[in-house]
Amino acid sequence: MPSYDVVIIGAGHNGLTCAGYLGMAGLKVKVLERRRVVGGAAVTEEFAPGFRNSVAAYTVSLLHPKIIADLHLFDHGLRIVERRAQNFLPTVDGEYLIAAEGHTERQLAKFSRNDVERYSGFNHELDTVADVLRQLALEPPPNLTRGLTLETIREVLKAGRFGNRLRRLSTENLRILYDLFTKSAGDYLDGWFDGELVKALFGFDAVVGNYASPYTPGTAYVLLHHAFGEVNGKKRLWGHAIGGMGAITQAMAHAAADHGVEIDTDAAVREVLIEKSRAAGVVLADGRVVRAGVIAANVEPRRLYTTMVPREALDPAFLRRMQGWRCGSGTFRINVALSQLPSFTALPGHEPADHHTAGIILAPSLGYMDRAFCDARQLDVSREPIIEMLIPSTLDDSLAPRGAHVASLFCQHVAPQLPDGRSWHDERERVADLMIETVDRYAPGFKASVVGRRALSPLDLEEIFGLTGGDIFHGALSLDQLFWARPALGYADYRGPLPGLYHCGSGAHPGGGVSGAPGHNAARAILADRRWYRRG
Ligand SMILES: Cc1cc2nc3c(=O)[nH]c(=O)nc-3n(C[C@H](O)[C@H](O)[C@H](O)COP(=O)(O)OP(=O)(O)OC[C@H]3O[C@@H](n4cnc5c(N)ncnc54)[C@H](O)[C@@H]3O)c2cc1C
Repeated sequence: MPSYDVVIIGAGHNGLTCAGYLGMAGLKVKVLERRRVVGGAAVTEEFAPGFRNSVAAYTVSLLHPKIIADLHLFDHGLRIVERRAQNFLPTVDGEYLIAAEGHTERQLAKFSRNDVERYSGFNHELDTVADVLRQLALEPPPNLTRGLTLETIREVLKAGRFGNRLRRLSTENLRILYDLFTKSAGDYLDGWFDGELVKALFGFDAVVGNYASPYTPGTAYVLLHHAFGEVNGKKRLWGHAIGGMGAITQAMAHAAADHGVEIDTDAAVREVLIEKSRAAGVVLADGRVVRAGVIAANVEPRRLYTTMVPREALDPAFLRRMQGWRCGSGTFRINVALSQLPSFTALPGHEPADHHTAGIILAPSLGYMDRAFCDARQLDVSREPIIEMLIPSTLDDSLAPRGAHVASLFCQHVAPQLPDGRSWHDERERVADLMIETVDRYAPGFKASVVGRRALSPLDLEEIFGLTGGDIFHGALSLDQLFWARPALGYADYRGPLPGLYHCGSGAHPGGGVSGAPGHNAARAILADRRWYRRG
């Protein structure tokens, strides 16, 4: 008899979500986490004496309301607040754009009458397609199957439901959907707007975590991926979890524990135990064995199949495919402790104002973003990087001492791996200086206000969180790695190639971001299989 019904490898937010649902269904679940803390890339830590902040992920929108409700996350202390302005895009020359509910059009009028007229049409178009994606997020995509089996029939029915959903869209909306899956964000946005700042506002979402130019085909999908969320019922907004992103995963861990889930930290899994060609348990780094009928992996797929599953258990063609799984974001993450709020040349003042609560995008055009990518390809680090700065202490006084602030700097693009044997550990602080100097160009005096910092290179993200190449999504969100191809054709329904082994992390549909959707969908697949097994 296995000791547990399910062992989950990794206590990222998806592993915890999966565990919560399985615990709720009465299963005996053990979660094993390599780090000392749960939460994966959604954690809050003290990074300088007296200053706490979200360490990696820093802003919330994609977390699905069904998951918040089912796991009673608000009852477990989660509170999500809205920013007073969504985004602020200053230039070094003194211009700026503020995107805020009901005010954006007036801001656009500073630059182009044409953009004012087109703005609501653009939002309507994006909303329509984002609604489709939102519905698809909590469903397994149609999966490739062979032969006439019950599973094939199930997949045919699922494909039918999927087709019906698309058939409800008008022909024009289908064209738009197709555009957003295949085009570059740059081409898409150039077709809508004239103004550089408004294009940069949306273009940022296309390159965040995505090592690409906004003119790379396929980047329009990454823009769309960042549009299917909501904050407290308001679609496409981004907000702040009080206490930082760790508040989300702490609430999830408490919800799971309430349903009897056991969570072990400092418990790295070394190997998935395979017996008679099926997953039967895991071996920990210290040699202990934990047995279970089902293993659900919250770890990134390439890491799972190339380092944790014995290679002789896998079909060589599948293994080769997983070795080629594209993983690597061009991101560099810094937390800074600030003695005062930044004062921007474009909108001066150290006193708290709405724009200080916004996602502050320092990248004034799509051309700038294109150059940032080309630079990083040639020089490993972009000379003029794209930075989003968020100052969560403007909305949350639990993060910094009174009068002081914390800021998240999310910076793109840098090379996920450095060539010629160079290590990111030797380059990190130099690149952190460059990022801080870049902010200083928009907000003179910013550098002098930094009283503490912690920088994370792509290698740090890999070593600390297990994100291969620092990939924030557990694998690029490109058409070859999305929907029925995530993580591979034939294995998109959360079931891996070995019976008993499931995927519950961001390497499964619908991919990265703090959504909880892969964890939710994997739990459903595991529970469905148990019901079939019992009936059989
Ligand atoms: C710098 C950065 C910024 C981001 N910003 C945002 C944002 O603002 N908003 C947003 O929605 N998303 C953001 N993301 C993306 C988002 O954080 C991730 O996509 C998401 O957290 C992934 O969740 P997960 O549960 O699938 O995996 P993870 O969070 O990666 O969790 C996997 C877990 O598995 C554990 N693990 C790995 N190997 C083992 C092992 N051998 N044994 C046991 N445990 C193991 C890891 O320690 C980790 O806890 C960001 C990510 C990064 C890195």
